[in-house]
Amino acid sequence: MPAPRSFTLATPIDQLEGVPARAVPGLRQLGITNLGKLIAHLPLRHERLEAEAPVAELQADRIVSARGEITATRTNPRRPRPRFEAVLMDGTTRLDLVWFNALYLRDKIKPGMRLRVQGKTKRYGPGLQIANPKFEILSEQAEPASTAERVRPVYPASERIKSQTIEKIIEANLPRALPLLTDHLPPALLERRNLPSLGRAYEMVHHPQNADDALRGLRRLAYDELLLLQLGVHMKRAHLREQLKAPAFVRNSEIDRRIRARLPFRLTPSQDAAIDEITADLCRTTPTNRLLQGDVGSGKTAVALYAMLLAVAAGHQAALMAPTELLAEQHHATVRSLLHDSKVEIRYLGSSLDEADRARSLKDSESGRAAIVIGTHALLQETVRFRSLGLAVIDEQHRFGVHQRAALRQKAADARTTPHVIVMTATPIPRTLALTMFGDLDVSVIHGMPPGRSPIQTRIVPRTRRDEVYEFVRQRLQKEEQAFVVVPAINSRETETGDSVRTVTGVRELVRELELGALRGIPIASLHGRMSAAERTATMMRFRSGQIRCLVATTIVEVGVDVPDATLMVIEHAGNFGLAQLHQLRGRVGRGSKPGVCLLIADEDDPDSPNTTARGRLDLLASTNDGFALAEGDWQMRGSGGFFDERQSGLSTLRVADLIRDRDLLELARRDAREWIAKSPALADPAEALVLRRLLKTFGTQLGLVAVG
Ligand code: ADP
Ligand code: MG
Repeated sequence: MPAPRSFTLATPIDQLEGVPARAVPGLRQLGITNLGKLIAHLPLRHERLEAEAPVAELQADRIVSARGEITATRTNPRRPRPRFEAVLMDGTTRLDLVWFNALYLRDKIKPGMRLRVQGKTKRYGPGLQIANPKFEILSEQAEPASTAERVRPVYPASERIKSQTIEKIIEANLPRALPLLTDHLPPALLERRNLPSLGRAYEMVHHPQNADDALRGLRRLAYDELLLLQLGVHMKRAHLREQLKAPAFVRNSEIDRRIRARLPFRLTPSQDAAIDEITADLCRTTPTNRLLQGDVGSGKTAVALYAMLLAVAAGHQAALMAPTELLAEQHHATVRSLLHDSKVEIRYLGSSLDEADRARSLKDSESGRAAIVIGTHALLQETVRFRSLGLAVIDEQHRFGVHQRAALRQKAADARTTPHVIVMTATPIPRTLALTMFGDLDVSVIHGMPPGRSPIQTRIVPRTRRDEVYEFVRQRLQKEEQAFVVVPAINSRETETGDSVRTVTGVRELVRELELGALRGIPIASLHGRMSAAERTATMMRFRSGQIRCLVATTIVEVGVDVPDATLMVIEHAGNFGLAQLHQLRGRVGRGSKPGVCLLIADEDDPDSPNTTARGRLDLLASTNDGFALAEGDWQMRGSGGFFDERQSGLSTLRVADLIRDRDLLELARRDAREWIAKSPALADPAEALVLRRLLKTFGTQLGLVAVG
């Protein structure tokens, strides 16, 4: 007789007990190769199994569970709801079963089979019926009917192996695996967060006594995962902070007074608060890495300018980078006019410059003569050098990636210094997500708007009433107001959805239509990405000056563009745009003293098409002007809703945690990770070896941490 085997988590599955040989290929295919992987194969969900009762004792309108033999089946292909019907007999009592839209079941459920079913009963003739019951085909050796309610894990399975087989295999090996698990989290932390140990958590998840058990076990595992991610993020941040230094700026009342005197308005309390937070960072040698969030029009530029002037006052240079030429030019014009009579030299860098101007900008940037350099991603080019870059401000972060931030950092004079970095974004990222994605950034938020703004009214108009929209626009334009009209494309095109073909209006056709029709006699122009930068700037200038009353554009007007008299925003085919985009577009109007109106022209909704979710988005947009509320709502509605690219963020690696369900856990994990790293920045204590190993294994590559460990 062989000696009793000793198992480890690395023991291959084919050497475990209770694993039938025919199950092995299926398990391997799911990535389950050894005992450790088997235990880590978590249920997709848990299913409540009602206590079973004899069919004769069932009552109507209850959720019940019963078993019996299938004696007859029938398909009824009648549209619109083709159905599959079966009769289940328990002794002499009959239960009728019906599944709608499920003709494929005729290949699965056959007379003579024994089934366990669960669902809600209805009175049906003299007996009972269950519509769309859950079912399980019982084998010869099926367990006897269970008379107590139970919670069963449902595992990710495949064609080759059923969830129930996996359940049995895990069940058989759980007692052996649990004692082998060493918890990588300290007991004191678990106690504080009221979470079970690792072994207990796996037990609760795989073999729950009740629904609460399953939840509590999952909660521990989700917390674990979020904590590891946040530990990684904070560790990386601690590492950067220790290796690199930035110049410390100085703020005193004199400097503060001089900067404020440059602004044509009083800063709002919210802007002041953001400035205080940012300044506290900038006056230290620890490199700033801060996200400045504020809804469209909230006045981020003034905050950025304050920071840039602090850099200049300290004898350093500041750079401001915008995602488009138009925006960069607008920043340049704004900053230039605010500082027109000061000694601060400002240079521009972008593709619209001629050779001579470009050479001059480069030279003055390198010599330090230019105190402020504003531009597009042209700033990132190798030829651009600074004498002493103290601060880099990046506008509209979502257009730039992590790599651009790194590239700007490298513009510092030597390898051990780095500029402070501030990233401005109007994309309202829910706080919890911002913390996860940008865990290595601090976040400041400008709430609300500068005074004198009236809230924008948003209305959804069906396409059939489009004429009324342009009639309304015509009347408003005659009253000295200005309008943007945004369409999804430059040229009209046809799109097919199902059997119907729609025409999506383009900029060119719409300009022609409006010039000849509803807006005849009113100066109209178009703006889109195929125009040269010079043409675009010229058009914008004429629109800002009021020569042009109506601008028909693609989403190129989306970010930042400031035209105080524009009060109307019409968006054609509004359902074609993302919610974030619509919100940005809407923020283009009502920036002056007159209130803004946003009219969303919605295509007809086919109730069966995914377009109905587009309608849901539009309704949400019309219901609030608060970008953060909108982002939260959108996030709830669609997972994370396209506001951000999850793939870059580490979120896509999360296996257990669900950011919507577990948002409270994320917050806890973040706080705990922060405290932990503050005490032990590199997790270098021998007692932390296990947690460090888990962390590097799970998130190391993605966070670029491998070298740190
Ligand atoms: P965003 O946050 O979208 O970049 P901007 O910085 O472009 O917003 O500011 C929007 C408008 O509000 C600009 O015209 C700016 O001059 C104005 N503004 C900013 N701060 C104030 C303030 N405190 N009081 C009055 N107007 C302000
Ligand atoms: Mg802006």
